[in-house]
Amino acid sequence: MSSYHVETKCVQSGYSPKNGEPRVMPIVQSTTFKYDSTEQMGRLFDLEESGYFYTRLANPTSDNVAAKICDLEGGVAAMLTSSGQAASFYSIFNICSAGDHVVSSSTIYGGTYNLFAVTMKRLGILFTFVSPDASEEEMNAAFTPETKAVFGETIANPAMTVLDIEKFAKAAHAHGVPLIVDNTFATPVNCRPFEWGADIVIHSTTKYMDGHATSVGGCIVDSGKFDWNANADKFPGLTTPDDSYHGVTYTERFGSAAYLVKATVQLMRDLGSVPAPQNSFYLSLGLETLHLRMERHCSNALAVAKHLQNHPKVGWVHYPSLPSDSEFALAQKYLPKGSCGVLSFGVKGTREDAVAFMDHLQLAAIVTHVADVRTCVLHPASHTHRQMNDAELASAGVSSDLIRLSVGIENVNDIIEDLDQALASI
Ligand SMILES: *Cc1c(COP(=O)(O)O)cnc(C)c1O
Repeated sequence: MSSYHVETKCVQSGYSPKNGEPRVMPIVQSTTFKYDSTEQMGRLFDLEESGYFYTRLANPTSDNVAAKICDLEGGVAAMLTSSGQAASFYSIFNICSAGDHVVSSSTIYGGTYNLFAVTMKRLGILFTFVSPDASEEEMNAAFTPETKAVFGETIANPAMTVLDIEKFAKAAHAHGVPLIVDNTFATPVNCRPFEWGADIVIHSTTKYMDGHATSVGGCIVDSGKFDWNANADKFPGLTTPDDSYHGVTYTERFGSAAYLVKATVQLMRDLGSVPAPQNSFYLSLGLETLHLRMERHCSNALAVAKHLQNHPKVGWVHYPSLPSDSEFALAQKYLPKGSCGVLSFGVKGTREDAVAFMDHLQLAAIVTHVADVRTCVLHPASHTHRQMNDAELASAGVSSDLIRLSVGIENVNDIIEDLDQALASI
């Protein structure tokens, strides 16, 4: 980890050219890498030597970008994945097998909820969902002897609850398991979960990190702090020999980076959710301005939230950085520089009014996306969360009138004017 400030890391970390090399990180658009001897290639396959041999396992462009995100989060190792979904899946599957169990905050991204509650259940990995404001007793009651991890989102998409990272970390560690935090909405510019006790951080880089809505991608970062050997019986995949690598034991061979190395050389080898080097390059361009964009996303969103809060046609506004918000105290603690550009609100009236309001917007586009430079809106109950029933929606913190507004980095007065004209039409 470098000692630079986060802004400098956004620009400088990850790739450092040697004498005479390109100043800007090259795109290594090659599936494969050449070696002079069979023997050396063999050592790479046995993990006895490190080096590139096939892009499904590792690629220099993607590795440079992972190294930048690793430095931003303050971790020891990181890998890129082809999507945020792949990152969520790998982060759990790396330490869970059939029969295992995970405790998760109930307010998480809809896609993550499906993955956990439906698809991973088919693999025999079960989840218990707890309210983000569960008491310590309620949290402890959710654990079973098979529990292998705790999961939550720094700022939940789209419920906008702020995770009490210290509380979740304490419960996880009391049961000898790591806390995995999805830090997509906050980004390391506004929150670094490792500083509050999280052990693994994941991202959908598709959102603010890319920032321009060009490339779907994900990332997993390992803090290197979790002691797998202290609970060796819970994590046999890390602490006992892997037959698929001639008996390598990850914690012995790779020390603090054991979790991340296993995810790369075993899960990525076998499942192959690898990003295209070209997409890693786009992500890298986005990361170079992440600190500037986050600042503007946050100041614009706060101004929009304050405006909507005073609008007679708006029933409620939920934005963690609003002083009147239920999440404000947690946001002050974990997100003092600002939360993100996303807020949710409800227009007074029926579900049809919400839809009519959205259809009247001109600047803000209706898209299945959030967290890029352009202002956009989504109605989760009819889009991302439409497969959930009312009870599931309620526990995910999504009411049927909830409109998710992702405030971009345009001039804030233009954004407010657009919202006002659409509200005037209903
Ligand atoms: C979008 C999102 C994901 C899924 O990421 P993809 O890149 O779309 O696969 C996961 N978590 C959060 C918080 C998200 O917003």
